[in-house]
Amino acid sequence: MCGIVGTIGKKDTLPFLLEGLGRLEYRGYDSAGVAVLSGNEIHIRKSVGGVSQLVQTVNEQPLRGSPGISHTRWATHGEVTEENAHPHLDASGRLALVHNGVVENHKHLREELIGRGHVFRSQTDTEVLAHLIGEAFDQNSERNRPALIHAMQETLRHVRGTYAIAIIHADLGEFLAAARSGSPLVLGIGKDAQFIASDAVALDGWVDDVIYMKDQDIAALDGESFHLATVSGSAASPPKLRKIELEARATGKGRFAHHMLKEIHEQPETLREAMKGRLDLEEATARFTGLHRSNEQLRDLKRIILTGCGTTFHAALTGEYLIESLARIPVECDYASEFRYRNAPIDPETAVFAMSQSGETADTLAALRESKRKGALTFGICNNVFSTISRESEGGIGLRAGVEIGVAATKTFTSELVILSMLGLMLGRIRDLSHSDGEEVIENLQSLPDLVARTLECNDLIAGIAAKYSKTRNFLFMGRQANFPIALEGALKMKEITYIPATGYPSAELKHGVIALINEETPSIVLAPQDDVFEKNISNIEEIKARRGPVIALGTHGDSTLRSLCDETILLPAAPVFLTPFLNTIVLQLLAYHTAVALGCNVDKPRNLAKSVTVE
Ligand code: GLU
Repeated sequence: MCGIVGTIGKKDTLPFLLEGLGRLEYRGYDSAGVAVLSGNEIHIRKSVGGVSQLVQTVNEQPLRGSPGISHTRWATHGEVTEENAHPHLDASGRLALVHNGVVENHKHLREELIGRGHVFRSQTDTEVLAHLIGEAFDQNSERNRPALIHAMQETLRHVRGTYAIAIIHADLGEFLAAARSGSPLVLGIGKDAQFIASDAVALDGWVDDVIYMKDQDIAALDGESFHLATVSGSAASPPKLRKIELEARATGKGRFAHHMLKEIHEQPETLREAMKGRLDLEEATARFTGLHRSNEQLRDLKRIILTGCGTTFHAALTGEYLIESLARIPVECDYASEFRYRNAPIDPETAVFAMSQSGETADTLAALRESKRKGALTFGICNNVFSTISRESEGGIGLRAGVEIGVAATKTFTSELVILSMLGLMLGRIRDLSHSDGEEVIENLQSLPDLVARTLECNDLIAGIAAKYSKTRNFLFMGRQANFPIALEGALKMKEITYIPATGYPSAELKHGVIALINEETPSIVLAPQDDVFEKNISNIEEIKARRGPVIALGTHGDSTLRSLCDETILLPAAPVFLTPFLNTIVLQLLAYHTAVALGCNVDKPRNLAKSVTVE
């Protein structure tokens, strides 16, 4: 994870380095650092804590110069300390480097370097990169810009793992070099300055044109021109200049106290956006131009695999219910981290959908590559359509959720759900779903944004319940059918931002073990909409109440059974059964949010987490 920014060309690089870094804090925020070339010396400032800490350090000990690189860290190797914060220097102290990723063979490389007399100042895997590249550069009698690129190529060929790196060298003046493999990196090309960043969001307002670097690309920037090479030494493919996506622009909190609350409230709009132009009433189906496959080709599919991590995995599990019921095609869900190492049978009649909000999730990318190798048809479902997963899949569907800054995923989750519902509709309509059933699904989907808006009106009720139960030490979440994965997601959201242990189960699993946890102090959150398993959920609630467990039930307007049985009842607008997971999701997002606020937690930046997991 972690965020990198760098710039060259402007006399004063600090305003960009600090502002850009602040916009990347969603990627990591345990420590931060900056290095600039001033005169012919590199000057570094580092601090533990978020970017605001670094800003304070820089205010106390000002810095000026160009080029400059900076980094906000999400530690993988070595504790959160100033020594371990990036940038790291090589043995000569003249080369500074920032890194996003993991050097898997760092131990071996480090031992070799120690054997050659190198002394390390940090516990990070990153520092070996600085030492190795610095050493290769120093050994070259030329000691010029091409020599640095050469040193990077020589070193990176021996690196196993993932990296996006940026380097400045005190002997090379106005020169900034960068490389990537597995971790994202974007170049910003301006008239009198150039930039690099882990995400284009950092570049908005500073530059209009960007280039998304490809895996194995090396970039050399001198402030006026740039050159692309590759790690292997073969020619880089010609760079594609793109305009910064407009969506990279809406990054403020607006009238909301937190990004997460703003993003929860954006969902009527983001759902509308995800459906825009993709529903075809005449043919009673959905269309995704990005799949690049004809109906005939899609009809030949015998199986679908949905793979992803974290919240996205819960969307996949919900998708399994939605797609199987609409399209009658077998769907399998797999954690990408498991799938990539499991020798799953895959054939050309299998379509693998690699799902990732950022499109850079390391495990999901590896799962995608593994599926491709074995001949599956691969598609990406990503929010960032310029991401590595989007680029490497044969086709894809964009979430169109806009930038999500809150580290806990909210709007991207419901966008994933609506995309999977539309996918089920589309696959159903080329199999055995009738025109009139297809029309009904479309009409229902069109009512979704409004239903979500009405669900958001429960905000105050939920805030009250959250405050009342915020001292709870353990929550249980339960649901059936497509609402079972929503229970898992509700529990994950609660853990992520409140740190309260919470577990999700299919309601029927209660008596197979979990019931042992029920007591007066363990609230159960039961998702019990009016559907054909409603009575079954009521039986589970009775079982909990018989053991004095408090129950917070999510039901449907007009329901009186839940009111008479449960301690708290949140009744939601009546909705078609396949839309109830959306509405329950909204409530569980708000419940986690208000509990976190009541506890004084850092909602948008929960401890130990980062938004885009680009390390394994
Ligand atoms: N592995 C490096 C470290 O622990 C970089 C981590 C990251 O990408 O955030 O410092």
